[in-house]
Amino acid sequence: MKTLNVSVVTPDGPVLDGTYEMVSCRAEGGELGILPGHIPLVAPLTISAVRLKSENNTEYVAVNGGFVEVRPDQVTILAQSAEKPSDIDVDRAQQAKERAEQRLNSKREDDVDFKRAQIALQRAINRIDIANHQ
Ligand code: ATP
Repeated sequence: MKTLNVSVVTPDGPVLDGTYEMVSCRAEGGELGILPGHIPLVAPLTISAVRLKSENNTEYVAVNGGFVEVRPDQVTILAQSAEKPSDIDVDRAQQAKERAEQRLNSKREDDVDFKRAQIALQRAINRIDIANHQ
């Protein structure tokens, strides 16, 4: 079985390095399923899960935007932040979710803050979802 080397890197350092059979991630243009030998590409990522499949299991990483760079035997994900399920602090994400929801429910005075709260809410929901995949 052919495999792919996968690296997930953030400004704080590497989050994951490994060898997998398939990588799935959500780019802004839609879901990408990457197998060994994929044509080279670079695509912007959404706030979403990266799924890393090997023969017997699937690992998950929560990514907050960034880019995926695909080469035939290597996938590199450069994310603003990224966490494995075991590194996610669910209470922190729950608090971030509640803060964002309060901002979204309060009187809408500033579009920039509103947009920021929507994105913070997506980050929190993504982390809470992925923390369930331990
Ligand atoms: P918060 O409001 O709780 O700070 P945030 O979405 O604003 O959350 P980010 O700016 O995306 O946080 O991330 C800042 C740093 O904190 C990154 O290193 C990220 O991996 C880490 N981080 C954020 N939330 C969590 C969490 N719930 N569990 C673990 N690490 C987290």
